[in-house]
Amino acid sequence: MKALVTGGCGFIGSNFIINNISKYDKILNVDSLTYAANIENLSILQGNSKYSFVNEDISNTKNMIHIINQFMPDVIIHFAAESHVDRSIDSPLKFIHTNVLGTASLLQSSLDYYNRKKRDFRFIHISTDEVYGSLKSNGVFNELSPHKPNSPYSASKASSDHIVRAWYKTYDLPVIITNCSNNYGPYQFPEKLIPLMIANCIDEKPLPIYGNGKNIRDWIYVSDHCDAIQKIIKDGSIGETYNIGGNNEIENIQIVKIICDMLDDIKPCKNFNSYSDLIRFVDDRPGHDFRYAVDSSKLKNQLKWVPIETIKTGMEKTIKWYLANQRWWRNIQKNNYNQERLGLKK
Ligand code: NAD
Repeated sequence: MKALVTGGCGFIGSNFIINNISKYDKILNVDSLTYAANIENLSILQGNSKYSFVNEDISNTKNMIHIINQFMPDVIIHFAAESHVDRSIDSPLKFIHTNVLGTASLLQSSLDYYNRKKRDFRFIHISTDEVYGSLKSNGVFNELSPHKPNSPYSASKASSDHIVRAWYKTYDLPVIITNCSNNYGPYQFPEKLIPLMIANCIDEKPLPIYGNGKNIRDWIYVSDHCDAIQKIIKDGSIGETYNIGGNNEIENIQIVKIICDMLDDIKPCKNFNSYSDLIRFVDDRPGHDFRYAVDSSKLKNQLKWVPIETIKTGMEKTIKWYLANQRWWRNIQKNNYNQERLGLKK
């Protein structure tokens, strides 16, 4: 079994490769190394003959056709994307380029390979619950909910879902789409809520929270997401969509308080009574969705998948990882990106 993973130097892709390398004969990681990539994430696999890496852009159809036909994967797992909502508000066209055109281009390259080989093959498209739009206090999204995206990021992912479906319906490319809720865990770029809050706590810097902090997300520990994807690769049905959720709906402010409380126990604050003294409310971002929640009972009933981690166990592992791997996130902060965006200068 050979897997071609796109975006494997990012957060979820690198967790997927590390967690699943033993289940494959070979994994080829294709990543164009944007600001969000970190080749160091895979350093644990250095010297492992099952793993290889190619620096390539999924939008380069000619090169991707060559790479795919040479490698002959049984499965392509498509993680590569621009993934940060705030950045999509600042630079929307980049998101359209990678997430929409890049996905269409990758589908064409995959179809070229599939039509030549006509072998057992599947294309797994990794998408988000944000495509469904925002919920009020009640209800959950299922796989039949309409796409109603509100940010340039979610609109670009919703577009990619439609394009993936069209390549299945029109060209018979064997695809499966997954829509997952918010992930957290090791190797998450420290501009996202949870690693940003942990890093700022460790440095006793302000903890900026959008609006009143009452926005609700469903959180899933990244290894649970990766397990669900692996289950879907193995037993999922072609042409289907599967929602993946963590059963952990929590307000943003509560997430930050959980982090503060845990860190108060593990590594007490030096200059304040509690890390929660560092919480600051900042202007809300435009189009900020109030609530996401997905019903993942299809995946549970049909493929017998359930998430293992609770928010308590998952957050404890995450905090301990960021404490033990400070060089990893401090290097990113130093080299890579706009500190102001992270609230570090607030
Ligand atoms: P990430 O931003 O951490 O990583 C994205 C990776 O894709 C990076 O390594 C980047 O270099 C690579 N990439 C970007 N453009 C590329 C291109 N044109 N060609 C090749 N590689 C390219 O993202 P993530 O958080 O790991 O998310 C992975 C996927 O999962 C995305 O498709 C995202 O929409 C989806 N998703 C994420 C979450 C979440 O909470 N993070 C939740 C649900 C779904």
